[in-house]
This record gives sequence, C-alpha cells and structure tokens, in this order.
Amino acid sequence: MAQGICVFAENYHGKLEPAAAELVTAAQLIRETTGEDISAVVMAKDCDAIVDELTCLGVNKIYVVKTEKDILLQDDAGSQILADMLKVIEPSSVLIPATPVGRSLFSRVAMKLECGLTADCTELLVGTREDGSYYIKQNKPSFGENVFVTIVTKEGCYPQMMTVRPGVYTMPEMQEASAEVIYMNDIKVPDSQIEVLEVLPSEDETDSILSAEVVVVGGRGAVENDNFELVKQFADKIGAAIGGTRPMVDSELIPFDHQIGQTGYTIRPRICISLGVSGAIQHTEGLKDTKLFVAINTDEHAAIYNVADYGMVADLREVLENYLAL
Ligand SMILES: Cc1cc2nc3c(=O)[nH]c(=O)nc-3n(C[C@H](O)[C@H](O)[C@H](O)COP(=O)(O)OP(=O)(O)OC[C@H]3O[C@@H](n4cnc5c(N)ncnc54)[C@H](O)[C@@H]3O)c2cc1C
Repeated sequence: MAQGICVFAENYHGKLEPAAAELVTAAQLIRETTGEDISAVVMAKDCDAIVDELTCLGVNKIYVVKTEKDILLQDDAGSQILADMLKVIEPSSVLIPATPVGRSLFSRVAMKLECGLTADCTELLVGTREDGSYYIKQNKPSFGENVFVTIVTKEGCYPQMMTVRPGVYTMPEMQEASAEVIYMNDIKVPDSQIEVLEVLPSEDETDSILSAEVVVVGGRGAVENDNFELVKQFADKIGAAIGGTRPMVDSELIPFDHQIGQTGYTIRPRICISLGVSGAIQHTEGLKDTKLFVAINTDEHAAIYNVADYGMVADLREVLENYLAL
C-alpha cells in the first residue's frame, strides 16, 4: 500500500538545491496530520554531502542511486531511474521543486507511472476522507493566474505527485537526526540519447529575488509617469532586487517571475520597500514574513499600511527624486 511522503532531492555538483530542502518543511507539515515517514530520492554522482544534509534536515529514509556522472539534465535516463525508484518505494505522495529540471523530469516520471502531476502548487493542505484516509489538497493558481484552484488526485491513484514553487516554504531547521540510507544498486542506469554539450549560467533572475536581503516592490504607482526608471535607480543605489505587483508584470516592466503574491512568488527579505502598492491580499500574501516593511503611497487609507511597519503618505516620485539627489 502506498505510504510515506517522498521529496525529490534535486541537486547540482554534490549540493542539495534550496528549493528541495524547502519541501522537507512542506513534508513535515503534511506529516503533522498523516503521521507518515518522510523520505528523499537522490540521483547523483557525488551523494555524500547531499545525504548528510538531508539527514540533518530530519528526513527518515534516503534512497540513493549513484550515477557515474550527473544526469539530471538527461530527462530520458533520469526519469526512468526516478520512476523505477518510486515503483519500489511506493510513497503516497511525491513533492518536487517546480524548477525547470523538476518539471521536465517528473512530467516523464508521471507518464511512466501512469499517475497525475499537479504543476506549480503554492500551498499544500491535507484533507481527510470519510473512511479516515488522507489526501493532499494541491492549491495553485490557474486559468492565466486569475483563479486559485484546489486539485485532488483521483482516489486510489498513487503517488499523488506535485511540483511546488520555490520560496513558498521556509528552510527546515537543522536537527540532530539519523536517517536510514538505502543504496538502490539494483536500479539500472539506462543510456541517454541526450548529450550535454555545455552548461551556461542562467539568465533567469528568479533566484536573485528569492534570496535577496532587500527588495524594492513597485506597484501601479510605479508604472505611471515613468516612475519605474526612478525605482530602478533607487534599487540600484541601495543594492536591492526589484519585485512588483501584477500591474507591473502586465505592463511588462518586470518579468512574471518577479511578481510577488498568491499567484506569483513568495519572498522573505530582511527589508521590503513598497512603492505605489495598494496592498491587495493577493499581493501581500507573498511577503507577509518580511522582517522590516516600509510602504510609500499617496493614499493614506491604502491597505498596504496594515502590513507595513513604517508608512509614508507621499508621492513616490518626490521621495525618490529627493533621495537620489543626495
Ligand atoms: C486570483 C487572483 C490572484 C492574484 N494574484 C496576484 C499576485 O500574485 N500578485 C499581485 O500583485 N496581484 C495579484 N492579483 C491582483 C491584486 O488583486 C491587485 O489587483 C494588485 O495587487 C494591485 O496592484 P497594485 O497595488 O500595484 O495596483 P493598485 O491596486 O492600482 O494600487 C496602486 C496604488 O499606488 C498608489 N499610487 C499611485 N500613484 C502613486 C505615487 N505617485 N506615489 C505613491 N503611491 C501612488 C495608489 O494610491 C494605489 O494605492 C491577483 C488577483 C486575483 C483575482
């Protein structure tokens, strides 16, 4: 019978991806209700540091397939290995980082296991059926990010597989723990038809906003009157990353992967400076754990002041021009 929550331990050059570590927190939250064990699947050339880190994160079992070279970018071979691992482990759920690699590998794994895959979840909750069995409510934005939907895997269809956006869950606390490490030597590493010629640095700057200590967030007020130019200069001067609300994305001033909120990304910066943002809940949900929040808005009744630690009722243009002139 399918049992246990399994995390895909995405890794590069012998190191666990932070997005995979965050999913251990998601698994721990699910475990609070279901009481299931947490396992991780590792497929890598250099496994030792990854296994050590997963152990310290409190994973109960670590399943490992050691490969001669890193093959995460070789979807055909990688997905076959992962599907074979999951057939043996038989977890009830599999949590996967919604990264390009996670998505690419697991769409193929889902096909091989003949199960579903929910992409891009921003919240995982546990539901209970009448017979006492559990299922995962896979919440995610849908229909052009305009509605929030809950997807439930068909009863009896396992594993329930889902990719989860990076940044939604915090890193788990390190703990003294011991994990059972199982090397799955019987799993064959198939030949790949894909040859990796060169690995280039990513042009996707999502990581920069997810890991930034200071973020300047622009709203519609920053879209108007060329205010965005000032916002960019300001962010540059204080060394901050730039995020924004949906109108900023709609007006193509920032890419979608810099949208903050329920259907965008969740960030936890030390300092957030919000400029010309009204404070709709769909936006503020994405930065509610900010340590120090400063908001500037012309409207003294703007809802953003309910989440801000410090507020300034002012025209952002005037404030930024004065600051940049210093
Ligand atoms: C299902 C769903 C999901 C959504 N997901 C997201 C999401 O992930 N992220 C997101 O951001 N939105 C999301 N939205 C949209 C959200 O509801 C709001 O419409 C959006 O956040 C508003 O953006 P805003 O604050 O920039 O614009 P507005 O609400 O138009 O506010 C602009 C603010 O700027 C102020 N202002 C104007 N000029 C100046 C100036 N010169 N100086 C200072 N202040 C000024 C105004 O007083 C006003 O308060 C979602 C909506 C739905 C229905």
